[in-house]
Amino acid sequence: MQDNSIKSTCSYCGVGCGLLIKKDSKNKVSVEGDPDHPVNKGMLCSKGRNLHYVVNDTSDRLLYPQMRWSKSHPNLDRVDWDTALERAAHVFKSIIKQHGPDSVGFYVSGQCLTEEYYIANKLVKGFLGTNNIDTNSRLCMSSAVVGYKKTFGEDSVPIAYADIELADCFLITGANPAYCHPILFRRIEAHKEKNPDVKTIAVDPRRTDTAAYADLHLQLLPGTDIILYNAIGRRLLEQGLVDKDFIDNHTEGFAQYRAQVMQLSLKEAAKQCGVPVADIKKAADIIGISKGFISMWAMGLNQSVVGTNKNFALLNLSLITGQVGKPGSGPFSLTGQPNAMGGREVGGMANLLAVHKDLMNENHRREVAHFWGVNEISGKPGYTATQMFEALETGRLKAVWIICTNPSVSLPDVRKVDKALQNAKFVVVQDISKRSDTLQYADLILPAAGWLEKEGTMTNSERRISHLPKVVEAPGEARPDVEILCDFAQKMGFRGFDYYNTSEIYQEYAAMTKGTNIDISYLNYDRLKNEGTFQWPVNTYRHTGTPRLFEDKKFYTPSKKAVFNIPSTLYNRSIKPDAEYPFVLTTGRVRDQWHTMTKTGKVSRLKTHYPTPVLEIHPVDAVKLKIREGTICEVASENGNVRVKAKLTDTIRQGVVFLPMHWGKKLASDLNRTNNLTQNMVDPQSKEPDFKFTAVRVEKYTKK
Ligand code: SF4
Repeated sequence: MQDNSIKSTCSYCGVGCGLLIKKDSKNKVSVEGDPDHPVNKGMLCSKGRNLHYVVNDTSDRLLYPQMRWSKSHPNLDRVDWDTALERAAHVFKSIIKQHGPDSVGFYVSGQCLTEEYYIANKLVKGFLGTNNIDTNSRLCMSSAVVGYKKTFGEDSVPIAYADIELADCFLITGANPAYCHPILFRRIEAHKEKNPDVKTIAVDPRRTDTAAYADLHLQLLPGTDIILYNAIGRRLLEQGLVDKDFIDNHTEGFAQYRAQVMQLSLKEAAKQCGVPVADIKKAADIIGISKGFISMWAMGLNQSVVGTNKNFALLNLSLITGQVGKPGSGPFSLTGQPNAMGGREVGGMANLLAVHKDLMNENHRREVAHFWGVNEISGKPGYTATQMFEALETGRLKAVWIICTNPSVSLPDVRKVDKALQNAKFVVVQDISKRSDTLQYADLILPAAGWLEKEGTMTNSERRISHLPKVVEAPGEARPDVEILCDFAQKMGFRGFDYYNTSEIYQEYAAMTKGTNIDISYLNYDRLKNEGTFQWPVNTYRHTGTPRLFEDKKFYTPSKKAVFNIPSTLYNRSIKPDAEYPFVLTTGRVRDQWHTMTKTGKVSRLKTHYPTPVLEIHPVDAVKLKIREGTICEVASENGNVRVKAKLTDTIRQGVVFLPMHWGKKLASDLNRTNNLTQNMVDPQSKEPDFKFTAVRVEKYTKK
């Protein structure tokens, strides 16, 4: 490493690759992979390699606060920070006085740094007196949070990336890490190149690059995941490929699990999943004889109306095989955003409290209230992401403060989200970029400092905390999110927000973790800067972090045993295709774009791989509909419509179509917004939306 390099972490996905940043005399930065970083060992994917464009090009940045003086005022005027935040405080106070604290809400992001997430939650839950704070991470991994909590007693990812090189079997399901977690996938590839006996099994209705690479691809029908995992479980039991000692001594609920998986024959399961019996047997046999079995999943499981049940069924495979808490094994939920995990740690969801405390537990609420020096924390669960926008539409929620996320593209049924934002009395949008579609609804725009323009910490998918230093000045009058929130809190008249710097905020949160299962009370900015990254818990001064949890087979449940949760036998509760809407639409990401493209969309070279949104459709289906490559198609669901060109591909099953989720109105047009089609159905436990299963109709578009 050269002397003038500054260490940081990639601001895109939850892999959390280490970077070396250099700055020239004109303050322009360059980015390269950190060869000494334990996550990426110098490697970067296309998105990470092009991060410098995002920082150096400030032409799209929001530079100063802008405010609409009243709803009837058509324009936003430039104002100074004091005026902007005084107005925000005035409006919030007046709405709360008139309608109570539950009439306001905050919608934040998995891109917020841990300190920002912590302060936003302290402000809302501790001081505004409502639990109406939720995050766009709700859309990616809240089903996994419930799965971990109910299986292990806490939201605890038991595994580290270092386990990849110790495993000999990977079940990658509902995820396409070749596109969405590329460096992690590269580690699997490199491990397999050196060890040809290592096997990968992919489960996906599409033959993605991940599936094409796999030794076995189970191209199941959308929505049949639970049946498939249970069938694999049944085969493992029948073949005796289970860890009886682990089941007997370290789990509970096995009898019920066994009873459920035995209900469906392999033949029937294969028929329902649309995969050959032989492939189910093969998958089970590969898993059963492996010494190190890792399951990896992401939104293909989580973004479902039965997302938590899918998680349960998958986690149960790790329990029957005893593949938890030992080298090269464990169930590994991949996070999509760089600090989705940090948000979970500080209670960054409407139903959580910091340090894995439970909002529904009166003692936990009392402990957190005492720590923050407030009388109480409300026991009423706050609105989750989709509930928040429903409440705005019906008028139950009057004001919303949106930080670093673009709900006008990313939420399901976005035309309804537009209406909700139009209906709101007061919308604050705090963001870095003019590219956000949500800005058009703002009554107050607050320009935020972006990546490298502020200091803080993040936690990646494997619980690894890294420190991100400030490297360059933010453009114009943009300010770090914590400063904005702390200033607002003080204008509201709240005590406890007069921090000297972000290190002080981090220390406050770290003190809160003392004695808990995510204890980082012995970790501070100095250690992070001098010693590098750490995986929590880090509970002594000499502690170097905890790569793997549960090596002692003591779980965080009251009995210390891991729990078999029995999935509902209502295997799929999505609205089924019918004569009017005969196809299943599944949505997802493309390799070089990220989220709603407010950052990757400004890098020309990232546009070449997948330049415009297209509908992926099987050639046999296309022929029946008289659709050719490039034909403009109208895709319609009960909620709305989309008009895009067709891409014929046999990588997708017949009867299933795919659309990428990235494009919004600003980048393309309303008719390119995939989430016009998706419905506002959520998993009843995790409240995560059902993005992966929407009944749609596809037609060749003809101008009327
Ligand atoms: Fe960044 Fe993820 Fe790519 Fe690593 S894999 S460089 S964290 S986007």
